[in-house]
Amino acid sequence: MRYLIISDLHANWHALQAVLNAASGDWDSIVCCGDIVGYGAAPNEVVDWVRANVRTIVRGNHDRTAVDIENMEWFNAAARDAMKWTAGELSAGNLEYLRLLPKGPICENGFEVLHGSPVDEDEYLTNPREIGMMIPYLDRSLAFFGHTHLQGTFESRRTVTREISKPAGAETEVIVDLDDSAWYMVNPGSAGQPRDFDRRAAYALLSTESRQVRMLRVEYDIAGAQAAIRRAGLPEPLAVRLGLGR
Ligand code: ZN
Repeated sequence: MRYLIISDLHANWHALQAVLNAASGDWDSIVCCGDIVGYGAAPNEVVDWVRANVRTIVRGNHDRTAVDIENMEWFNAAARDAMKWTAGELSAGNLEYLRLLPKGPICENGFEVLHGSPVDEDEYLTNPREIGMMIPYLDRSLAFFGHTHLQGTFESRRTVTREISKPAGAETEVIVDLDDSAWYMVNPGSAGQPRDFDRRAAYALLSTESRQVRMLRVEYDIAGAQAAIRRAGLPEPLAVRLGLGR
């Protein structure tokens, strides 16, 4: 089975289109690690698409908050404004869909899917030390997560966890052959709001047959996504950061 793994779409329709074009023909099923709304200008388009196309998905903190906007005191001002706007934009059907999204981790075909960490959907896992501490909480030796908007594959053996290098510069792909004796936590990166100083949309592909993960980046119409954010009247920093990739 071949999976397209996406996370943190954040209502960025332009980025999602580029990912789907680039990955066309390379997957049989789609997995999403959450945060399909928030920040971006196309919440209904993205949620409509997810509802029609994504079979395996966990909720992210933005998905949860869109249907519970009283509880977002820990969001920064721009995120809060965007979340209020998003909640007002979403159709009743899409709000209900977000409300019913499962909290991770969930299991799919031998791997786990979660948003933040295996023990807390709001926890940020950014480095090998933090990942290493979470390995004992996994039920499977392969897990996909999101939340940080930082693409990365972490490989853990006994007490040593290391990060495998990801596509950098002009590279668009890094292939990781999964070793049966190691444990892996893979962040496909954010399609809709990358923060690893690489403004290209991030995603991953998994082949369970060849036991291979591919970390990928693709250019997208950033100016189009920024124009949509400005047209919607969303906070300017949300447009600017797409151009910076941070
Ligand atoms: Zn996010």
